[in-house]
Amino acid sequence: MNSDNRVHVLISVGSNVDREKHLPEAARLLRRNRFIEVMDVSRVYESPSVGGGVAPPDFYNAAVLACTTLDPKELRDELRHIEEVLGRVRADDVNAPRTIDLDIAYYQDRVEERDDWRIPDPGTLKAAHVAVPIADVAADWVHPETDQTAYEIAAALDTTRIRVVPDLRLTSPTRSMPDDNWEGDRLEVYAPKLESLVRRQLIEIGEDPDREGLLRTPLRVAKATDYITGGYATSLDEVVNGAIFDAEGADEMVLVKDIEFYSMCEHHMLPFFGKAAVAYLPNTKIIGLSKLARIVDLYARRLQVQERLTNQVADAVQDVLNPHGVAVVMDGRHLCMMMRGVQKQESSTVTSAMRGTFISDARTRSELLALIS
Ligand code: ZN
Repeated sequence: MNSDNRVHVLISVGSNVDREKHLPEAARLLRRNRFIEVMDVSRVYESPSVGGGVAPPDFYNAAVLACTTLDPKELRDELRHIEEVLGRVRADDVNAPRTIDLDIAYYQDRVEERDDWRIPDPGTLKAAHVAVPIADVAADWVHPETDQTAYEIAAALDTTRIRVVPDLRLTSPTRSMPDDNWEGDRLEVYAPKLESLVRRQLIEIGEDPDREGLLRTPLRVAKATDYITGGYATSLDEVVNGAIFDAEGADEMVLVKDIEFYSMCEHHMLPFFGKAAVAYLPNTKIIGLSKLARIVDLYARRLQVQERLTNQVADAVQDVLNPHGVAVVMDGRHLCMMMRGVQKQESSTVTSAMRGTFISDARTRSELLALIS
């Protein structure tokens, strides 16, 4: 290919018929085309199909970054040709199933209006299933009309219904990109909105988010945040998952102590962490011991104050077991005090929540305190 008149283009690829077959096949045909040099491909994303009535199968979407010497019309003809090879019949019904869709999303920085199509494709600004794969493969691509980067565009769209298809990759066979190196030096989009917020926060504190050490920091922070706040997306039922058994007459205190917990204070969004003890006096039911630690995690993985966390754990045990009594004691160290305060490094905060017999019977309470001290 003559490099003098080459332009960069982004091609959107979509399919909702035999999509596991058609997407890789389209990528292969693009690579084989002598007018098109495929430089990189995005990961494959699944997105719900649009349209009313009987819902057609969900789409797989990807984006291909390529060089070409073709002009827009010629490139479009080549893409149509590949579609035909793969059996696509362009129907009038826009919601009809698509064996394969190949569209020019961007053609260099060209802005062009034709009879029934335009460059850039309007979907680059409006459709998450177009914008997210493009941001994956060419995060810094600038939209010629809005001056936003592909990354910024994707970050502004609702991406909640789009997910990566982990097992399907269109990676060039000439380029080795094994699974554990897949992230490489490229920008991966995980949670575009959260990532762009982190990026802006880095700028705000005087950092350069484009220096090497910080390039993937927004992504890492987004993933860590997802984990640390995973409690919001989990329910007590899921955690307990049926691990409740007949007490069969057991009525002695059940105590699990030294349960490590890690949470985030809601005032500073800084960690607090420590150990919890959870005790209960069985009535008719007991629970798998590991589940008590899982219940602590469920509420710890949210923005919290330690007092509420302690009470929520107690209430949850009360709810699922209806025992004679529940006691939760938590001992936590708060980074918002330790990192900012002066000489507070050794301080810890102890909170407790008692229910039932642990309130009404002083002996039960002192038995507990002897056991955990
Ligand atoms: Zn705090």
